[in-house]
Amino acid sequence: MTVRFVDLGERDPQALKKLLDQFCGGENCGFAWARRLLRGDGYLYASNGHIVVRVPDHPAILAEELTEIPPNIHANLKRYFSIPYDPSCPFPFPKLPKIQPCPVCKGMKRLQYEVCPDCDGEGECGDEECTRCKGWGRINQRPAKVGDHLCDYCDGYGEDPACKTAIGGITYANRYLRLIKKSPGVKLFPTGPETPMVCLFEGGELLLMPMR
Ligand SMILES: [Zn+2]
Ligand SMILES: [Zn+2]
Repeated sequence: MTVRFVDLGERDPQALKKLLDQFCGGENCGFAWARRLLRGDGYLYASNGHIVVRVPDHPAILAEELTEIPPNIHANLKRYFSIPYDPSCPFPFPKLPKIQPCPVCKGMKRLQYEVCPDCDGEGECGDEECTRCKGWGRINQRPAKVGDHLCDYCDGYGEDPACKTAIGGITYANRYLRLIKKSPGVKLFPTGPETPMVCLFEGGELLLMPMR
């Protein structure tokens, strides 16, 4: 497999960082490595665990070395970016349905809540489910555009994570497809129900995991 990047000439590091940042894990992401940009093998990487983007390295962008992340993650990155696909047969970008707002944040992307004082946010008192918060560990939760917390149900996308669209008979989350659609000149190559779809765009490439 040969991936040919479109030569964009002099790249603006600020625009490049902005592009990469939108694919990083948000403040709720449990993986420390996914909340930062990564560098290695001649590329810059960003990932939230479902989607990973890589572009040719740029020295003006701060990033953590790939050798600093867990070795299995590094190995998976290498493996996924060498998945074979047929570059002569891109799938057209599907028409995406209207956004279904996230049922938890109602599309506002953020939440306001207080940590339950009875269970200190644990959701349990002793071995029993906390009766005050019913196991949620939170009280007075409500959607709020400027809430203290990024919605952890939709990861701040504001779109119902269950909504999906099929490409070549394989389904992908609409919230990620919408993000990918913004990449210039994007071409889609689904590789199977258990392996990521390869998405080439001007200046880089993306991998998107299918939904189960
Ligand atoms: Zn939400
Ligand atoms: Zn509680």
